[in-house]
Amino acid sequence: MAACIHCKTESQFLTFDALGLCHNCSPDHAPIIAEAIGAIASVAAVRAKARRSAQQLELLRQSIDHCRTLQRYDGLRIEGIDPARLMAELEQVRTETVEEAIRTAWYDARERAKDASTAKGVISTYGKAVSALQDLMDLMDDTTLIDKAVLVLRAERDALVFEDVYRSAQLAEQQGRKNRARDLYIEAVFLLKKDGTPDTYQTDKIDLAEKQIERLGGRPTSG
Ligand SMILES: [Zn+2]
Repeated sequence: MAACIHCKTESQFLTFDALGLCHNCSPDHAPIIAEAIGAIASVAAVRAKARRSAQQLELLRQSIDHCRTLQRYDGLRIEGIDPARLMAELEQVRTETVEEAIRTAWYDARERAKDASTAKGVISTYGKAVSALQDLMDLMDDTTLIDKAVLVLRAERDALVFEDVYRSAQLAEQQGRKNRARDLYIEAVFLLKKDGTPDTYQTDKIDLAEKQIERLGGRPTSG
């Protein structure tokens, strides 16, 4: 005997609608199901025209929520829609959309960093990419991909900034400005130590700059 997809009751005294709802549940729940199915179709139509990743992710989240509504009815029979398969497809598209947004943000940051003439410029360029990605986090259930991308972007930024300051230090030394060079090496170490990348990943660079500081007479004594 069939059980109702909402109240799970099995009884020969119940009649069932085409969705699998008993006559007690059908008046309340058939409209909820119809609304979710209609919304999935209309959101998909809007999403087909959406260009910005934030908009696409917002629409995907809406579709996924409607799909969850359908999945609450175990054994739901709908012509042409398998909620579980649809959910898997939507999650797949969502992952691809985030990956694309990450690639774009990363590419933009790298291209703009090439044009940036100062460490400050590099920092601001990467900062924009990071906040663009962080803006997408609220639209995701799982932020793992974005979290990872933010770490990588920050590490790349830190490496570029270090290189920039280190190069300036070498240049100052070539120009015979030893104190200036030493100050810049000290700044390079300072930047690495205060940035978000764990110091253990940067010990080579810190050691390298420390050697130059030693070579140029060590840190000035304070006070
Ligand atoms: Zn029922």
